[in-house]
Amino acid sequence: MPRYHKPVDAAEVPRFAGQSTFMRLPAVATAEGLDIALVGIPWDGGTTNRAGARHGPREVRNLSSLMRSAHHVSGIAPYEMANVADVGDLPVNPVDLADSIARIEEGMSRIVAAGALPLSVGGDHLTTLPVLRAISSGRPAGGKPLGMIQFDAHSDTNDSYFGGNRYTHGTPFRRAIEEGLLDPKRLVQIGIRGSVYETGEHDWAKAQGVRIIYIEEFIRRGAADVIAEATAIVGSDATYITFDIDCIDPSMAPGTGTPEIGGFTTREAQEMLRLLDKVNIVGADVVEVSPPFDVGGMTALVGATVVFELLCIMADHIRRHRTD
Ligand code: MN
Ligand code: MN
Repeated sequence: MPRYHKPVDAAEVPRFAGQSTFMRLPAVATAEGLDIALVGIPWDGGTTNRAGARHGPREVRNLSSLMRSAHHVSGIAPYEMANVADVGDLPVNPVDLADSIARIEEGMSRIVAAGALPLSVGGDHLTTLPVLRAISSGRPAGGKPLGMIQFDAHSDTNDSYFGGNRYTHGTPFRRAIEEGLLDPKRLVQIGIRGSVYETGEHDWAKAQGVRIIYIEEFIRRGAADVIAEATAIVGSDATYITFDIDCIDPSMAPGTGTPEIGGFTTREAQEMLRLLDKVNIVGADVVEVSPPFDVGGMTALVGATVVFELLCIMADHIRRHRTD
């Protein structure tokens, strides 16, 4: 039995005490030897309105101390199946967007090169773009673009903002499609809703083949049906999961920059995440948790719980495909 990292024993150090890390796992310097690297990306320089997601990783670490070691539904015990630790925060530059994107890509590339699957906590949604770049460059040359399942109130496929600025948290997946990082025909966006800047705002994405499942369609069909379709669309090829916390209704996750009413309940989100077990996940993130808008840590708790749900699915995938 390999000696994997374990959370600090709650019978030795109470869960509210000690160093704050994701899931109370050891803080390690590099991703060497890890199967899954938990990592923070404390940067919100792509935010167009209410900033604050730069504070997300620290608060999600704090509330993740409430997570225990095993999943009560699936029975998955992730720390028995995979070696997981907290590799800290990626380097960012709070006053330079281009430099931050470059630093995030470089930091994430080191995690990917070490052979670990990244599970990151943002940060605003623009942070996912350099993550996708790092994962894509770490894959064999000539490989297929990634698929992606995106839980979000917003499509994030706008072209530009405020006079030709092409990099904001409303544009990352347009850029990712243009750069060939994502296969638009294997991109599924679930939970989209809210007012738009113009009626045709989603036309470009749809014309590329992106499958947009608006919240109204989700309400009609339910989690199992929607995830079955999403799983069929992304298929067995490499797929990234991105979870924008604003997909959750703001009554349950108010701590985010761009809230939209009429969203998922936390239960609906959990049900969907638990159904991702057939997806070939090469990385995942939880973004847009903004502690300055939070109430008593409730949104950070949602973020931490979603990280745990994703961690369980990813660890089980690693267990099932382990060849050593
Ligand atoms: Mn988003
Ligand atoms: Mn959003």
